[in-house]
Amino acid sequence: MVTQIQQKNTRLIHSGRKNRVTQGSVNPVIQRASSLVFDTVADKKAATRQRTKQSLFYGRRGTLTHFALQDLMCELEGGAGCYLYPCGAAAISNSLLAFVAQGDHILVTGAAYEPTQEFCQVMLKKLGVETTFFDPMIGEHIAELIQDNTKVVFLEAPSSLTMEVADIPSMVQAIRAKKPEMIIIIDNTWSGGLLFPALQHDIDISIQAGTKYLVGHSDGMIGTAVANERTWDQLREQSYLMGQMVDADTAYMTARGIRTLALRLQQHGESSIKIARWLAEQPEVKAVYHPALPSCPGHQFFQRDFHGASGLFSFELNKRLDDQEVATFLDHFNLFTMAYSWGGYESLILVNQPEEIARIRPNIARKLTGSLVRIHVGLEDCNDLIADLADGLARIR
Ligand SMILES: *Cc1c(COP(=O)(O)O)cnc(C)c1O
Repeated sequence: MVTQIQQKNTRLIHSGRKNRVTQGSVNPVIQRASSLVFDTVADKKAATRQRTKQSLFYGRRGTLTHFALQDLMCELEGGAGCYLYPCGAAAISNSLLAFVAQGDHILVTGAAYEPTQEFCQVMLKKLGVETTFFDPMIGEHIAELIQDNTKVVFLEAPSSLTMEVADIPSMVQAIRAKKPEMIIIIDNTWSGGLLFPALQHDIDISIQAGTKYLVGHSDGMIGTAVANERTWDQLREQSYLMGQMVDADTAYMTARGIRTLALRLQQHGESSIKIARWLAEQPEVKAVYHPALPSCPGHQFFQRDFHGASGLFSFELNKRLDDQEVATFLDHFNLFTMAYSWGGYESLILVNQPEEIARIRPNIARKLTGSLVRIHVGLEDCNDLIADLADGLARIR
């Protein structure tokens, strides 16, 4: 397993750097273009014929910069092709739209990123597509929810916020046994595509909010969807019809981020595990929901299926903080700052109250009683981060 990751590290340094896209420099060129011009009628015909195969046809089909990133993403996640979107939410909505029609039914994890759930409840509902949300710990019983008109199963592991790690291999096996042609999609953002090889588990499409670990510096928004052979043509052509595209500058920054992805994830993971273990020993903390700790639901599946941890996890406090305590806790950190995003080099912190979690996670069986703190462990020195958290916990003692 370790050998395989090392080889992948090497490939992430060298992929997406064919001479065609670098023009002789180390990195791909930033080719900003709407019009791609042809010298001859024969050239134009050739580009038109090849338009789905990384030919310079029209800006919306991509330029050399996009092709470099697409190659790199296919190397990272092992797919037949990668479609690029302006943000992670667009990758999710368009991947779902590409495979459903009026009257269809889909199954979506009830612990998915909230906008994913809302997209199903608002937009898909409006189009006559019905969603059933399931508990992320349902395992092979997912098969019992499959109806004749069920077209897509949408997974996410670990869950956003509550961090359950689903038993993905059992779920996929049960789904394929009941309905082999099901389209199985996963939001694979937490793993950066590196820590969980989704397509190797017979998942069709692996989505990332590249905004998080791929870009890695909190300064760009992009979504990626790596598809297998079976789904690539339909995903590509229908996303193209939806007008999905990302600018060449962001595509460039994303490819640049991926060069250090393995190294960054290794540090995020090492520090987040150390901090999680430290938190588990603090009297103010009821439970730590970090996939690498046994207190996280699905820890055994994490141990079996993931190559390592990233930097995002949650922990539950012994009590529900009141509004004043939340402010006292959050307003005075030296290093942790508040933001809704994550995946950059900096550490972040947020608090969610148990009743909010109950409201946005009505479909999971697990109930929380204390305030839930979500942290993203950045690349600062781990001991400095622990000192900052120790001061924070002292403020609410
Ligand atoms: C942030 C996030 C998204 C959405 O990505 P955007 O680039 O903000 O649209 C999707 N899924 C998960 C798990 C996320 O954390």
